[in-house]
Amino acid sequence: MHIEIQCCGIVLMLVLFHFYRRQKRISLDTQKAFLVIFWATFVCIVVDILSIGAINYRHVLSEPVAKFVAKTYLVTLIGVVVSTLSYMCVDIYGDQEVYREKMKVYWLMALAGVLGVYAAPLYYQYINHTTDVKYTYGPSVYVAYALALGFFIRIFYLLRKEKAKINSRRREAVCLWLLIWIVAAQLQFMYTNILIIGYAGAIGIMVLYLKLENPETNLDRSTGLFNSGALYQYTAQLFDKKKDFSTLAIIFENTAYQHVSLDKRESIRMQIVEYLLRIPDAYSFKNAEDEFFIVFTDMETAEKRVEEIRNRFASGWGAYNGDTVKPCWLYLPHANIVNQAEILLYLIRYIRRDEKTFTEKDFVCIEKDSVDKIYHERQVVQLLLEAMENDRVEVFYQPIFSTNEHRITSAEALVRIRDKDRKIVPPGVFIDIAEKSGMILKLGAIVFERVCRFITEHPLELYGMQYIEINLSVIQCGDEHLARDYIDIMERYKIDPKYINLEITESATTNAKKTLLGNMEDLMKYGVRFSLDDFGTGQSNLNYIVDMPVDIIKFDRSMTNSYFENGKAKHVMEAAIHMIHGMNLEIVSEGIETKEQYQTMEDLGISHIQGYYFSKPLPENEFIRFLEDSLHRNEGVG
Ligand code: C2E
Ligand code: MG
Ligand code: MG
Repeated sequence: MHIEIQCCGIVLMLVLFHFYRRQKRISLDTQKAFLVIFWATFVCIVVDILSIGAINYRHVLSEPVAKFVAKTYLVTLIGVVVSTLSYMCVDIYGDQEVYREKMKVYWLMALAGVLGVYAAPLYYQYINHTTDVKYTYGPSVYVAYALALGFFIRIFYLLRKEKAKINSRRREAVCLWLLIWIVAAQLQFMYTNILIIGYAGAIGIMVLYLKLENPETNLDRSTGLFNSGALYQYTAQLFDKKKDFSTLAIIFENTAYQHVSLDKRESIRMQIVEYLLRIPDAYSFKNAEDEFFIVFTDMETAEKRVEEIRNRFASGWGAYNGDTVKPCWLYLPHANIVNQAEILLYLIRYIRRDEKTFTEKDFVCIEKDSVDKIYHERQVVQLLLEAMENDRVEVFYQPIFSTNEHRITSAEALVRIRDKDRKIVPPGVFIDIAEKSGMILKLGAIVFERVCRFITEHPLELYGMQYIEINLSVIQCGDEHLARDYIDIMERYKIDPKYINLEITESATTNAKKTLLGNMEDLMKYGVRFSLDDFGTGQSNLNYIVDMPVDIIKFDRSMTNSYFENGKAKHVMEAAIHMIHGMNLEIVSEGIETKEQYQTMEDLGISHIQGYYFSKPLPENEFIRFLEDSLHRNEGVG
């Protein structure tokens, strides 16, 4: 029996360990589990060499000692396989308690195997009936191999069953590791005189190291800080362990370096990175080009460290500390108000996107209410996605009464979605979030298409109706494809554009004016008309009406209401009505709930009235019934 191959394995592992030790590492459980396999494999190869020596010198050491060492080698083989199983389970069972429970079972099985290996007999196979031993065999060996095979099968089974929970690179690495062992076992079985199992173990370790346990994969090359992958893994691990921590995000918006001349910026950036690398009791990460994270697990000192870091920034950089860099700070004192790494990173992105945050102050402390808001928002996004995918977007119609013709002549289309339990969710819950997430473009198109389909199925003239008003969000108004897309939909449904009136708001006229005007021009050329919605909210400015090519002005409910409550508002509204009529525009007064309100609006000369006094927004079929009933009533009156 020779030991050259085993010695090569040992050299290989020592070289690997040398590199591993020299690298900057983060404290990750997977890396700890990797070290366990590493040492288990190392011990296995060393004991392999010892057992060969013990067998060769069994006449000196005595037979029982030689066999004990040979059996110990078998035991270390079991150790290698169980530690690999444990390495995978760290990924699969993030929850520490579940992980421990599962591993307890495997270790108990391994222990039973170990007792079996030591208790069962072991025999030698000699070369040509001489005293030289070729290999060992017998029940002790079979117990060890059977157990190792059982664990291999378990690893393979988990790799398939828990596919989604295992990091894909880890899955690949463990598959390769398994393959190497299987090939080695096969070779050793065929060529009994070469003992390559230990060496195969060393190669397996190298594969794991190169594929994913090289600590360098967690580093950002340009700064030497830990990278975003490491941030995710590390915080996910802290959440799994239910360990509270604080985190400080330092964000370098464009304005951060505005007080530093261009030629000095790069060297100051490097100075800042050097500083971040040396912050005590914390790990520093570069999450994005302009975003750094510091994670503190020592809650006692976190606050103090944050203070120190901010003071360091305030004292300035450069050769004479004369250059001030002003980043924005996001501080989360207790990460346990979030419970997932994804949510933590989403929270930071969300707050960054919220433009107002940093214009008001440069230090934001994240409290529970912002987290609750985000959870709510994510739920609504999910609700919207599901509703759009599963055809649960509906359009309700609220009739609009013409005071001149004394009948319903138009209606406003108002979107609703149904949740899984078929309960109606009103737009107040989701429109803002749909706008923020960009989903409003798709939602708006769905609503528009529904209305077009409704008009084809129910020709408006049959019901004495002239057009339907459809709301456009600010985001839609700023979408360059809007006119083309809407014209395409109208053509597809063969809709006469005179049946369509699009409602825009003042905020659209200020935010994306150029694109909006382009869209309006194209759609008006096609034959669509426009209204200005929400008049009387925010900073109403009559200039908007002068500027915007609209036909109808819609008075918001708040404006109509204040007419009845406030003497001054009365004069403002009367003046506005006078001017709007002077410009030959029509008015729709919204939110009219009582006969008295209706009468007042009619007396003021307002041509269209919308409100609960006539009807709430109704689903398609009820709206049709409502129109039919009012037609009959009118005929009756006529
Ligand atoms: P809006 O466009 O100003 O629509 C009028 C809102 O006032 C509707 O609320 C309507 O139900 C409500 N309303 C009408 N008359 C009365 C009344 O007499 N009393 C009371 N208390 N309320 C009345 P809704 O349907 O909840 O819609 C709220 C807002 O959501 C709309 O305000 C509009 O800004 C937005 N929205 C609705 N549908 C859409 C849509 O398809 N796309 C877009 N972008 N926004 C929509
Ligand atoms: Mg509206
Ligand atoms: Mg309105």
